Amino acid sequence: MEISEKWMSKKIGCSTLCNYRCCNSPSFHVEFQDDEIEYLSKKYNRDIKPIEPQNGSCKYLGENGCSFGDDKPRFCKKFPLTENKNQKVVLSNWSWLHCPKDTDYELMDMVNGKYLYVLKTPHPNKKDLVILDDKIENTIPNFYERFNGAHV
Ligand code: SF4
Ligand code: SF4
Repeated sequence: MEISEKWMSKKIGCSTLCNYRCCNSPSFHVEFQDDEIEYLSKKYNRDIKPIEPQNGSCKYLGENGCSFGDDKPRFCKKFPLTENKNQKVVLSNWSWLHCPKDTDYELMDMVNGKYLYVLKTPHPNKKDLVILDDKIENTIPNFYERFNGAHV
C-alpha cells in the first residue's frame, strides 16, 4: 500500500485541539468489515451494518468512550487516515473539512511561559481556547511525526 506524502505531511489536532467529534458528529459515518461485523455482532450482541451513519452521535459511543473498547473497527482505529480509491493512504476528506488544524488558531497571550491560543472562527469540533507549553506549530505533529512517536 502506498502512502501519500502530501497528505501525511498535514497536521490535525487530535485530542489537543478537539473533543473527539468524529464519534459524535452529524456528518460522520463508521465502516465495518465483514469479519468485524461477525465478531462484534456476536460478542456485543449488536445488529451491525457495513456502513453506519451517526446522525449526531455514534450509537456505540458510551459514557466512557467507544463501547467496543480496543475492539473498535479498523476504520476508527486508523481514522483520520483512510485509503482512497487509488489504494493510497491519505488523510480523510472529512477530517480535513471538520477537524482542527494549527492554522485555525492565533496566539492571544503568554502567561507564565505558556502559550494561549484562541480559535479564529468558532466551530463545534474545535476547542475555543488552548493553553500549550510550546508554539502550536511545534505541538501538533504531522502524521510522519506521529508514527515516529514525536509529540505523542
Ligand atoms: S480525527 Fe478529528 S475529530 Fe477525531 S480525534 Fe482527530 S481531530 Fe478530533
Ligand atoms: S465505533 Fe466507537 S470509535 Fe468508532 S465512531 Fe463509534 S464510538 Fe467512535
